[in-house]
Amino acid sequence: MDLQNIQNQLNTEFAKSETRIIFWFDDKDIDYINEKGLDTIRQHAKDFIAKREAPAYIANDGKQTPMKGHPVFIAQHATATCCRECIRKWHKMQPGKELSQVQQDYLVDVIMTWIQKEIEGQEHKI
Ligand SMILES: [Zn+2]
Repeated sequence: MDLQNIQNQLNTEFAKSETRIIFWFDDKDIDYINEKGLDTIRQHAKDFIAKREAPAYIANDGKQTPMKGHPVFIAQHATATCCRECIRKWHKMQPGKELSQVQQDYLVDVIMTWIQKEIEGQEHKI
């Protein structure tokens, strides 16, 4: 999978799809990222993906990612990495099967790329 291609696809097709809601960071999310640093945020993203998305069977799939409370959650909704159904639809990963390390790393990259872009966008606003 090519990250740039997926990123472009997310920006065009996913952004236009009716299920898509616009997500953005509030001040608390930005403060949290600045305080923790991007390496720590990446670690959190890895943990969330490993625990909430990677298992073959997820009891509360579709509801495992809150709409707020952590910047990674917001990024997950914005990049269709919030549940296995979105991951199947937009990232073409089969449900009912544990995600490989490569697949998990890829999802983390998608999330972190979105976060980095958001942060840069915020900096331009100031
Ligand atoms: Zn979802």
